[in-house]
Amino acid sequence: MKKEFAVIGLGRFGGSICRELVIQGMEVLAIDIDEERVNEYAEVATHAVIADTTDENVLKNLGIRNFEHVIVAIGDNIQASILTTLMLKEQGVKKITVKAQNDHHEKVLKKIGADQIVHPERDMGVRIVTNLVSNNVLDYLELSAEYSIVELIASSKIHGKTLIDLDVRAIYGVNIVAIKRGESIMISPQAHEEILKDDILVVIGAYQDINRLEKKLLNE
Ligand code: ATP
Repeated sequence: MKKEFAVIGLGRFGGSICRELVIQGMEVLAIDIDEERVNEYAEVATHAVIADTTDENVLKNLGIRNFEHVIVAIGDNIQASILTTLMLKEQGVKKITVKAQNDHHEKVLKKIGADQIVHPERDMGVRIVTNLVSNNVLDYLELSAEYSIVELIASSKIHGKTLIDLDVRAIYGVNIVAIKRGESIMISPQAHEEILKDDILVVIGAYQDINRLEKKLLNE
């Protein structure tokens, strides 16, 4: 069965969430107070409605509590974002994801029980800078404040070496969980696997450990 989502606020962020959910085959109710924005998404979303989501009765009439996941992507109007989240909580929505504008906004959202809080601009900024300052990092996924999964380009320093030779687990406390080679990917590579030119190593570990590995082993 298709999962049912509601996206409130159809700015650039909410709009792209809405499009992507539809691409992934989900049912999406798109909501905005602004008629023009709603018209823009009438063809994209499963349903699109003009509504002020700070109004409890409006949310009731939309049957918002029946949606499995509601995304609040109201940006600049922090008051409307907080009020909407509060209403959704009160109506018993199972999962609420909210876009936060700043740390104060996040603090309030946490207090009122938002399940997931995202900072798309900040997170994207960190991601892009990580790519800019490092020659080896292709991508990364933050697992927690301490741990991440990072894709690193294998430098010529380690071409022809096996995972045993590198012994990264003992020396750096990180694990190579996969090797990407062209179109293929080796999950849990064998210890005798040799690293070739253009290989991409998928590494899991603490930030500073991955950083040490990158500096010592991968910088040309
Ligand atoms: P962007 O996502 O485009 O980078 P943003 O996060 O600042 O920017 P806004 O342009 O603020 O997004 O868009 C938020 C949307 O939320 C707007 O389309 C606005 O009309 C809508 N919105 C604001 N208040 C309410 C409300 N009370 N009920 C429903 N929609 C609202």
